Amino acid sequence: MHNNTKAEGNAKRPCPAYEQKIGCWELDWKTMHASLPEDQKKMMGEWMKDNCPKCPVYGNHQSEIDTKISAIT
Ligand code: SF4
Repeated sequence: MHNNTKAEGNAKRPCPAYEQKIGCWELDWKTMHASLPEDQKKMMGEWMKDNCPKCPVYGNHQSEIDTKISAIT
């Protein structure tokens, strides 16, 4: 599952799920997304679209993650 490879992408804002070694494909993104302020909602969707495909986790859980990205974008 996770290894010591750091997620590529925006090094200034690493993914919290990746950093905490949480199985992001199991998280309830939609509820989390719905609780964000409006300006951050858009940011979260854009961030996922840009960064998840570059993340090592994505390769193993692509279909689950794609479904979650489409639910919030
Ligand atoms: S696939 Fe996306 S949400 Fe999951 S750990 Fe990687 S960057 Fe984070």
